[in-house]
Amino acid sequence: MDSILIIYTGGTIGMVRDEETGVLKSFDFDSLMIEIPEIKKFKCSIESISFNEPIDSSNMQPKNWSTIAQIIYDNYNKHDGFVVLHGSDTMAYTASALSFMLENLSKPVILTGSQLPIGDVRTDAKENLLTAIEIASAKKDGKAAVPEVAIYFEYDLYRGNRSTKSHAEDFEAFSSPNYPVLAQAGVSLKFSPSVIYKANDKPLKLNPHFNNNIATLKLFPGISEQQIFSIINIPNLKAIVLETFGAGNASTQIWFIDLLIEAIKKRIIILNISQCEGGSVDQGKYETSSAFDKIGVVSGKDMTYETAVTKLMYLLGTELSNEEIKESLQQSLRGEVLE
Ligand code: ASP
Repeated sequence: MDSILIIYTGGTIGMVRDEETGVLKSFDFDSLMIEIPEIKKFKCSIESISFNEPIDSSNMQPKNWSTIAQIIYDNYNKHDGFVVLHGSDTMAYTASALSFMLENLSKPVILTGSQLPIGDVRTDAKENLLTAIEIASAKKDGKAAVPEVAIYFEYDLYRGNRSTKSHAEDFEAFSSPNYPVLAQAGVSLKFSPSVIYKANDKPLKLNPHFNNNIATLKLFPGISEQQIFSIINIPNLKAIVLETFGAGNASTQIWFIDLLIEAIKKRIIILNISQCEGGSVDQGKYETSSAFDKIGVVSGKDMTYETAVTKLMYLLGTELSNEEIKESLQQSLRGEVLE
């Protein structure tokens, strides 16, 4: 019999409304399970591990990502798949981080949550959780149908490191603008094998270390020299996610390029991603990005912001040299970027 491990971290799915204040607060996993008696109907064994204190995902930290990855690593051989119950706010960050932490993954790690608590009459939690379990246990030719980290939300399964929370209220809260959905849930589950990651036979390797000495620089017309100067002079800064316009463009003002050159001389890695949700950075396409390749700004191509942040933190947490990190940023490590 197949076996699934549910890891409960918190989020709206397991929250109750405080009667006095109306504020949503986390409650424990057993109370959550009482709300879904259907779970007993699955023909697989389901076990669970819960965070001691379930959290709103806005409180997720890299140490919590490592806890989730460690639980999966420690229980890897005992289970066929893993379902991570998680708040939707930072789910895309956790999914991206897990994809880098779990190298050579060959079993499904499906993150899900909900927009409404499980106890609410119109909740989306039940469908999300039940289908996530079904996906985590799905097999193709005796092997896991989805051997990768993915997010299931409102009938769609997305590659974790390609997804983003794109709506604060709709049940359809996620999208993956630069990558097709991996599966759709209707009357039956329709997988798209051609876009699902191909697992290798190597043993699972856990990479639990992150370095958070990074910053984000989101450009806007009129941004001041002082602001950029302050960011590049943050003590111990190792990398900047530079959020540019359109296909990776930015102002050609001399002071701006000079500040980027100064940062790169200090061995700060600058990763260029677009403020647009869809499409890719194409350095050199316009005059407004033609300096970037020359001065050593790294193109983040079609990476999501969440992946840019977590990939940098992951790579900076390894022993790789500055040059090797720049190379790895351009390569697809887990299907997170177009090669
Ligand atoms: N604030 C909640 C969280 O991310 C929202 C949700 O679960 O959807 O934990």
